Amino acid sequence: MAARIIDGKSIAQDVRTEVRKAIDGMVGRGLRRPGLAVVMVGDNPASQVYVRNKRRACEDCGIVSVAHDLPQSTSEMELLAKVDELNADDAVDGILVQLPLPDHIRESSVVERIDPRKDVDGFHPYNVGRLAERNPLIRPCTPYGVVRMLDHIGVSVKGKHCVVVGASNIVGRPMSLELLLMGATTTVTHRFTRDLESHVRMAEVLIVAAGKPGLVPGEWVREGAVVVDIGINRREDGSLCGDVQFESAAQRAAWITPVPGGVGPMTVAMLMKNTLEASFRRQESRAD
Ligand code: NAD
Repeated sequence: MAARIIDGKSIAQDVRTEVRKAIDGMVGRGLRRPGLAVVMVGDNPASQVYVRNKRRACEDCGIVSVAHDLPQSTSEMELLAKVDELNADDAVDGILVQLPLPDHIRESSVVERIDPRKDVDGFHPYNVGRLAERNPLIRPCTPYGVVRMLDHIGVSVKGKHCVVVGASNIVGRPMSLELLLMGATTTVTHRFTRDLESHVRMAEVLIVAAGKPGLVPGEWVREGAVVVDIGINRREDGSLCGDVQFESAAQRAAWITPVPGGVGPMTVAMLMKNTLEASFRRQESRAD
């Protein structure tokens, strides 16, 4: 079987167009444009690329993004003070603190300091808890983007055996919660999993987020499976690849995401959607 490609770029563009239209509608009704504060500490080159993409997407959607570029030497106290300032700023609907942070700053204390209503990354324990309790509010962008992709191709995971490779706080874990929410039978594998192959072989829907290039050979992929590769790895020649061996996997899968052009653009698009919705909730609640 030659897999059909899940075109993340085009689905992400649909989401961005929806967001832009909704924002035009808000502005037409006298509400202000959503505001996103983008905080970056230090000059990690990968973070710079991600932040640049997010700022561009904001421009494209009509979101006002304000950059807060802080030096590498910023202390945890100083960063928390910045978060407090943004929490209190009425024009800021979303706060994004680009991870990873320098080693001397505890990410968890920063994430927990963000007002959950402005936590457009969906990483605050309140928002993760809401997802775990099947009553999601702001949902982590990458797994939420995968949900949108599955919906777009018309694949329901209800009752299906879905296997997630990777169990990080920002990708694998919330991904497994989204799958449970949709009624999937969900297996989560991670670095301590014995015999990864046997789990992968059972997956009707396989979602991989380990950050290990080529971790999943195509031969492991179940015939007719849906394969979503979240991994983004840079090869020595500078090109990008995922965690799944694409060519051989595409021989067996029914659907597969490419890297790049798969989940990556969806993450940014869902951030735009989360920012729109956070802004709408804040502005509507004040209109009462
Ligand atoms: P992470 O390092 O925090 O977590 C990796 C997870 O993979 C861990 O749970 C670990 O236990 C598991 N793992 C490692 N080796 C394994 C193995 N041999 N078998 C099974 N599990 C194994 O990484 P992360 O932040 O979750 O990101 C994972 C990948 O997804 C990275 O390549 C990252 O760049 C990418 N990513 C992509 C997007 C996107 O928008 N497409 C967003 C976030 C992260």
